[in-house]
Amino acid sequence: MDKLVFEEQSARIEAMVEEAATFMDMAGQWEFDHVMCEWDPHDQEGSDIPTVYTTAAKTTAQWQYKRAQIDWYVGRIATLSDERLMAVIVHELVHCLLNSLDRWINDDADDSYHELNEYTCEMIARAILVANGRSPVASG
Ligand SMILES: [Zn+2]
Repeated sequence: MDKLVFEEQSARIEAMVEEAATFMDMAGQWEFDHVMCEWDPHDQEGSDIPTVYTTAAKTTAQWQYKRAQIDWYVGRIATLSDERLMAVIVHELVHCLLNSLDRWINDDADDSYHELNEYTCEMIARAILVANGRSPVASG
């Protein structure tokens, strides 16, 4: 990936995260460590289901400290409109807000748990987008 494009996209992500964190009342409360990567090295790993979906971001949060590391896959994000990138960002920030619940009920032995977690995050993200006058596009 071109270095200038990578830097422009990284700045775009950080600016839009700040915008989302502000309307989600997380700015100044949550600390985000943004890790900019070209692509997800584990994309679709372990899955035998063919899909065109490519991961745009991955969030690892510590709710008790209001901290999160968000890995951004810049190669994917460069293909997203602002509308869709905002949907991805809000989805990732909802993962932060639900991290306490996620840690409490997480069951790695149950595949349906992960689907339920993703569905819940996505539905809350859509409600937040609509409540803020934005389009509830899918975050993928
Ligand atoms: Zn998710």
